[in-house]
Amino acid sequence: MAVDSAISSPLGPPACEKDAKALRFIEEMTRNADSVQERVLSDILTQNSQTEYLRRVKLNGATDRDSFKSKLPVITYEDLQPEIQRIANGDRTAILSAHPISEFLTSSGTSAGERKLMPTIKEELDRRQLLYSLLMPVMNLYVPGLDKGKGLYFLFVKSETRTPGGLLARPVLTSYYKSEHFKTRPYDPYNVYTSPNEAILCPDSYQSMYTQMLCGLQDRHQVLRVGAVFASGLLRAIRFLQLNWRQLSQDIETGTLNQKVTDPSLRECMGKILKPDPELARFVRHECSKESWEGIITRIWPNTKYLDVIVTGAMAQYIPTLDYYSGGLPKACTMYASSECYFGLNLNPMCKPSEVSYTIMPNMAYFEFLPHDPNSAGFTRDSPPKLVDLVDVEIGKEYELVITTYAGLCRYRVGDILRVTGFHNSAPQFHFVRRKNVLLSIDSDKTDEAELQKAVENASRLLREFNTSVVEYTSYADTKTIPGHYVIYWELLVKDAANSPTDDVLKQCCLAMEESMNSVYRQGRVADNSIGPLEIRVVKNGTFEELMDYAISRGASINQYKVPRCVNFTPIMELLDSRVVSTHFSPALPHWTPERRR
Ligand code: AMP
Repeated sequence: MAVDSAISSPLGPPACEKDAKALRFIEEMTRNADSVQERVLSDILTQNSQTEYLRRVKLNGATDRDSFKSKLPVITYEDLQPEIQRIANGDRTAILSAHPISEFLTSSGTSAGERKLMPTIKEELDRRQLLYSLLMPVMNLYVPGLDKGKGLYFLFVKSETRTPGGLLARPVLTSYYKSEHFKTRPYDPYNVYTSPNEAILCPDSYQSMYTQMLCGLQDRHQVLRVGAVFASGLLRAIRFLQLNWRQLSQDIETGTLNQKVTDPSLRECMGKILKPDPELARFVRHECSKESWEGIITRIWPNTKYLDVIVTGAMAQYIPTLDYYSGGLPKACTMYASSECYFGLNLNPMCKPSEVSYTIMPNMAYFEFLPHDPNSAGFTRDSPPKLVDLVDVEIGKEYELVITTYAGLCRYRVGDILRVTGFHNSAPQFHFVRRKNVLLSIDSDKTDEAELQKAVENASRLLREFNTSVVEYTSYADTKTIPGHYVIYWELLVKDAANSPTDDVLKQCCLAMEESMNSVYRQGRVADNSIGPLEIRVVKNGTFEELMDYAISRGASINQYKVPRCVNFTPIMELLDSRVVSTHFSPALPHWTPERRR
């Protein structure tokens, strides 16, 4: 029931006092976006005025926008590498931030094959928590009654390492789930999860998934929303159910726990939750043994009102599969965030995926926008870019996001391209267009053209002794399988037909490609099981020429034609697939350990 109109919000009637406060905060921040941004910049520059970085650019204590913009360069991760390396090696002086660096957050964006290390400070956790606290008050405006049940969320921690200087390095969500903010969160009827903390915090992905699924099945009538961070994660959970429902129903029937769950604290916790329920076990067996899994989510969790998963950006490829398994339930994309900084939230979370816009919250960091011109050659020292402030972006235009954070990133290019779709008060709203330079992505992996090229080069070395070379190649992220996998189309030049490479050799080529991929890809293959074995499809000679003919017939210029290194346009896929002469899958897992190679 909505609370009285005295605390009503322009966004809609809040569900409770607490929500009213959160909605008021959103209104205040977005109404005063420019002054909030000015204050944020001034706070950051004051706080960090004595850092090595700001002293080097001779800001001399200035905290205004003009001095900031004229003295600080716009940078990328590579520019910061020396400073980051020093921090990682144990230099505790105030290099980027006046506050001690509490840990590194490992981004899914990579540099030289390894995850980028983002320095963070303790107080950033509060800022992230603040953004999380705004999500349900917004959701409650659209979906009533979420306090009457639970959320089935598949949430996981990933492995962590220490840098040579002893700082922890781990993904931002692992850091959050392991924080007291999450572990000892006060009871909130709108945020009750079926998964106990012990299951979420179990580092073994099988045990974690198994117990989260088991709890979700036990509470099936109470589940009002089903989610994971990304769409790929939710589909992985469905696949897990497909593979494990027999064992799960066995445990439900007897009220005992699968012996493969060995983590002592998890066993103890599950011991208190599990109760024998033969009727539920029968139901699960009945539903899961049906040939069709269409609508399985709503069959098992009939009260689900929406799926809470990100389906924007690279995740849009999973929308049809999610629709199939959920009977077309609404898919809520609630927030937009990164290891560097949490950016903002979707004020209309029940909208269609194609209409999702994120409102950047002006209190999170200082935001600037680099106009994005896909045809420009970039900028040089002589023609520095003109960055636009948050409130000055123009509807319809595309920009690259540039951030200045409390943790000490200054004018840092995130690499995301956003299009302005409108404003909420004076805060702009953005459609996530894409991340720059990403060719292939299945889960959180992001493979660029140079990485793919290197992988093909490394793999094709194995063909030399067969007097064979790769004349052309392209790639495709195949998400019809769960987990999805990379498909690489190869056109080969076999000079000695009597000694052409065997299936075994081509399988080894698949593995060699996987070994060449960045660590996020290899972690997805090895630890998270979120990416399936890489596949090479060898196509008939002349296929890539046909591809060119096709492109030219559709208006491409013959002089400028370049082989696309990634394809997803159906007629092109059909052409390629109709010319496949053999397919080969990686026979083993590539090498991966949590330790960084450098
Ligand atoms: P990471 O640094 O590994 O946490 O990855 C952050 C990146 O994930 C962002 O810079 C975006 O490219 C992408 N991302 C995060 N949230 C969203 C979203 N809601 N929609 C699309 N892409 C997102």
